[in-house]
Amino acid sequence: MTYSEMDKQFVLNTYARNNINFKQGSNATLFDDAGKDFIDFTSGIGVVSVGHGNQRLADAICDQARNLIHTSNIFLIEPQAKLAKKIVELSGFDMAVFFGNSGAEANEGAIKIARKYGEKKFENKKYKVITLENSFHGRTITTVKATGQESFHKSFFSPYPDGFSYHKNIQAIYESIDDETIAVLIELVQGEGGVNPFEKKEIQELSVFLKDKGLLLIVDEVQTGVYRSGEFLATNLYEIEPDIITLAKGLGGGVPIGAVMTKHKDIFEPGDHGSTFGGNFLSARAGCEVLDILESYKNSGALDEAFLYFETKLKEIAQKYDNLFDGVVGLGLMRGLRCKKSEHQSVAIQKAFEHGVLILKAGKNTLRLLPPLTINKDEIDEGFKRMDSAFSTLC
Ligand SMILES: *Cc1c(COP(=O)(O)O)cnc(C)c1O
Repeated sequence: MTYSEMDKQFVLNTYARNNINFKQGSNATLFDDAGKDFIDFTSGIGVVSVGHGNQRLADAICDQARNLIHTSNIFLIEPQAKLAKKIVELSGFDMAVFFGNSGAEANEGAIKIARKYGEKKFENKKYKVITLENSFHGRTITTVKATGQESFHKSFFSPYPDGFSYHKNIQAIYESIDDETIAVLIELVQGEGGVNPFEKKEIQELSVFLKDKGLLLIVDEVQTGVYRSGEFLATNLYEIEPDIITLAKGLGGGVPIGAVMTKHKDIFEPGDHGSTFGGNFLSARAGCEVLDILESYKNSGALDEAFLYFETKLKEIAQKYDNLFDGVVGLGLMRGLRCKKSEHQSVAIQKAFEHGVLILKAGKNTLRLLPPLTINKDEIDEGFKRMDSAFSTLC
């Protein structure tokens, strides 16, 4: 039995999986079981932030695993405290953090904080959470309902929890706020929905409006966070101060961890929320190491150099294939190419794969590029060279 047959027979069929069998990785390069190399412009959907096979991260994880992997959240967890302090310091906000294991769970935590806030701080309970069309907030029953894409709201999973509605754009958010609204939950750059950054001014106005009304702004930074945007948080780039921020993907460099942070530190009390695994020794230690690596990478100027170089190459290829693409979208190392024809999206990804470069889709017509943040110049050059060969077959 091949592994691919084993996968088909024993793993539930939820992914339209490519059956390539990767064996090893080095920064932004992956090797399959035949030794063929691929340039990775996906980093596991924005997760492998410090690259594959990162020696420092591997050493930290091994060292931690030899001492303690897990006790439980009923005892002090030294690396969890350190990681929370580090996240708060890097964010520049006066906040405190709760750790879970994924993005969806981080958003669940955010919604729980908002709902309790809405009960405690107002005479009439406020509980409604407003989101945006083309957003993505997770796969649990609640976060899938918060996700503003009808295709995710399958009737066979119903009934969904009440109190969620999504709207066409930021302007429509203002019109949909009522007496029962407690929070607006948004991504600053929609990831899965198509790499759609919002305008800074529009977001700043929304932030001020909500603050004046005493309502909460929740920013889902599961994809944009941890330097993906070029700053520690996209929130820092947009110069706003949300009430609640969620993180996950890039935080553990591939070790599962999610986080929700808020300035409303008095809302949760013992018993309100919890997680068996969240922020355990292993994942928190990984998070600490990832942040140390990326903080010095950013401070050395290397991160800014990488994303400027990546941007130049991306603009070049968009220009060269202007018959295929409408242009470049996104920021930092969260980038996209907008396909003129949506039918080109999956073909381009397949062709790129055949030419040895991994790219993602987003929305209906976007090719999404989320390389490891530590990608080097040679890997960027090689990846774009391969994309060039792949795209030339589409013309
Ligand atoms: C990936 C993602 C999620 C869900 O994260 P999981 O770890 O898969 O639960 C939520 N929000 C955004 C913006 C994401 O990109």
